[in-house]
Amino acid sequence: ITNDTPIEIHQICVCVRKRPLNKKELTKKEIDVVTIPNKENVLIHEPKLKVDLTKYLENQQFRFDYAFDQRIDNLVVYKYTAQPLVECIFEGGMATCFAYGQTGSGKTHTMGGDFTGKGQQDCARGIYALAARDVFKLLNSKYKGQGLYVEAAFFEIYSGKVFDLLNKKAKLRVLEDGKNIVQIVGLLEERVNNVEEVLDLLKVGHATRTSGQTSANQHSSRSHAVFQLILRKGQARRMHGKFSLIDLAGNERGADTNSADRVTRMEGAEINKSLLALKECIRALGRKGAHLPFRGSKLTQVLRDSFIGEKARTCMIATISPGFSSCEHTLNTLRYADRVKEL
Ligand code: ADP
Ligand code: MG
Repeated sequence: ITNDTPIEIHQICVCVRKRPLNKKELTKKEIDVVTIPNKENVLIHEPKLKVDLTKYLENQQFRFDYAFDQRIDNLVVYKYTAQPLVECIFEGGMATCFAYGQTGSGKTHTMGGDFTGKGQQDCARGIYALAARDVFKLLNSKYKGQGLYVEAAFFEIYSGKVFDLLNKKAKLRVLEDGKNIVQIVGLLEERVNNVEEVLDLLKVGHATRTSGQTSANQHSSRSHAVFQLILRKGQARRMHGKFSLIDLAGNERGADTNSADRVTRMEGAEINKSLLALKECIRALGRKGAHLPFRGSKLTQVLRDSFIGEKARTCMIATISPGFSSCEHTLNTLRYADRVKEL
């Protein structure tokens, strides 16, 4: 990716982002098994043993709409993924952007920025905040004077249940009426007037999400976090468009179905189910008249309206770790992303 790589517009955009090797991996002298040779290809070098025990590398190549190497920052990732979708919500559309990948591969870094950053407003550099900034920019320029305003919601889906991150993790019910309208009953939707107010909400939501956890990743790696910017109009709060930005559960958790612990097993099964349903829903978006299996999981059920209509647009950022020890998970992530894209 260079400064003049053109931005392409697709109904479904699938990208891959590789993070750098971290300190721990460098200390362990892990090798980097992922190469991104150009703006769209990803090469993974899987070390294998021959029958005679000599080692060799098996290379596999994947192709996506964009591939971001470890030097690319959030701003550039945003420019090619979520940013092109912002205007769509002003035109009455529904936009979604997902971060999908193994725990530790960079989903939260990409979507939320670094909440842990010391002293700095690091979450201002995540896709949540960058999208909010552009929403307000458009609201105050091209779409000024149309009576539109913005509300934000932030919730988590954990083990098939919905919890409000802006309201002390209140457990919420999901209802579907006869007209297939899905509603999260009592979800707080806060009016926001500028990016600073969004940043405040993001901090509250993130603190709520990680509260009571022994290790920062334990619970949040098993839940999907959904941040929504909703454009509304008039006293009746009629919805004009919605941007959903989603930090998915770690995809490796879907394999916890073999765990000795019953709860872990059930959580794993739920994550697996939701990620499979998500893949099918996104694929259906690209095919006219395709069946939409949104009832397959709570995640796809609450996102139902985002998968419907000509104006629905989706972008998936598959995040991968470069280390040899993550090879298998990385391949799983790439294969999943490949299936989402393929029609
Ligand atoms: P996940 O949400 O997928 O579990 P995180 O976003 O928490 O992963 O990332 C794990 C760690 O790696 C964090 O400390 C994060 O700051 C760091 N990290 C992730 N992606 C990048 C990146 N592209 N560049 C630099 N550091 C990164
Ligand atoms: Mg995370």
